[in-house]
Amino acid sequence: MTRPLLMIPGPVEFNDDVLAAMALPTASHVDPAFIAIFGQALADLRALFLADDSYQPLILAGSGTLAMDTAVANLVEAGDRVLVVDTGYFSQRLAAICRRYGGVVDLLSAAPGDTITPSQVADQLQQAAYGLVTITHVDTSTGVLTDVAGISAAAKAAGALVIVDGVCAAAGEEMRQQAWGVDVYFTASQKAIGVPPGLALLLASPAALGKWRARRTPVASYYSDWGEWLPIMAAYEGRRPAYFATPAVNLIVALNVSIHRILAEGMEKVFARHRLLGDAVKAGIAAMGLGQVPTHPAHAAHTLTCPRYPAGVDAGVLAHIRAAGAILAGGLHPAIRNEYFRIGHMGAVTANDVLATLAATERGLRQAGYAVEPGLALAATQGVLVGES
Ligand SMILES: *Cc1c(COP(=O)(O)O)cnc(C)c1O
Repeated sequence: MTRPLLMIPGPVEFNDDVLAAMALPTASHVDPAFIAIFGQALADLRALFLADDSYQPLILAGSGTLAMDTAVANLVEAGDRVLVVDTGYFSQRLAAICRRYGGVVDLLSAAPGDTITPSQVADQLQQAAYGLVTITHVDTSTGVLTDVAGISAAAKAAGALVIVDGVCAAAGEEMRQQAWGVDVYFTASQKAIGVPPGLALLLASPAALGKWRARRTPVASYYSDWGEWLPIMAAYEGRRPAYFATPAVNLIVALNVSIHRILAEGMEKVFARHRLLGDAVKAGIAAMGLGQVPTHPAHAAHTLTCPRYPAGVDAGVLAHIRAAGAILAGGLHPAIRNEYFRIGHMGAVTANDVLATLAATERGLRQAGYAVEPGLALAATQGVLVGES
């Protein structure tokens, strides 16, 4: 009998109080108590992403891909030049969405496991008049963390807006939207935000709203159009009833609980916890002799780890690890899909979850025929957790 831990890069393990909030009777979307909860969640997005009241929050029913679609549908018009900083599968999805809305897209592509530097972006921005740069903060297909602050600065210097996919980073990796000059930052509920799947969360800068207001053409997506949603978000923040499309009431009640926990911990502590646990997992993986997809620790994410299978082991090991108590994910990047697996460690994750996951990974690897010495990974992981390495 096992109680496996869900340690994939989303959805993740959720706190019991968040799950209990999901089970409350569904309120009317215009019930004053719900209006207050939704209004609070909207205002709190600014505290999560570190931006002031001039930034516009949006919370929509849909997954992270809807957040991507919404950002692009409102900010890209036919013929707009977009530079996509490409660090993997999700960067390429963003490129596809930009093309769908008529953007003329250039990719600045890293080899799987590599990143793109601010100076590479600055050089490319000399080549054409780009209006928009997109960045995937953590590409979940490679575990690569990209330098959002540096690339945003390069984009600002060239007069381009910046959209950042923070789905696998928000409320985990360090992120300072206003200080870093990010125009739209977005995420989804089921990753480090710590709520079951179904909500798209976005925060837009005054410059992004200005670009949207100056559009020459209507937004092609009916559901995503900020023209429909901005009055709704303003009404909820102003504690007034409004309706365009029914919000995901139960999820928003749960979101409010989870955001409250995150803000009570404090963003600096949240960033530090993810850094520590991420380093601890990576130390355990390295101690077992496994490589990792990111080509340098300096650009490895802290919200997930992408270990390479050791020689003689393939994705079949994941069933053994699951039987040993941890549900992990297989590879996602098409070029290297069968060479690595993925461990998510974000949101409500604890040091004990991480130790249990490494222990299950060790046992699973042994079942798969890889002769790792029992406890080796745990010693390395524990060493980081107690601050001795
Ligand atoms: C998970 C993820 C997405 C997609 O989110 P869905 O909720 O699956 O639509 C987009 N970008 C990144 C970086 C992700 O990790």
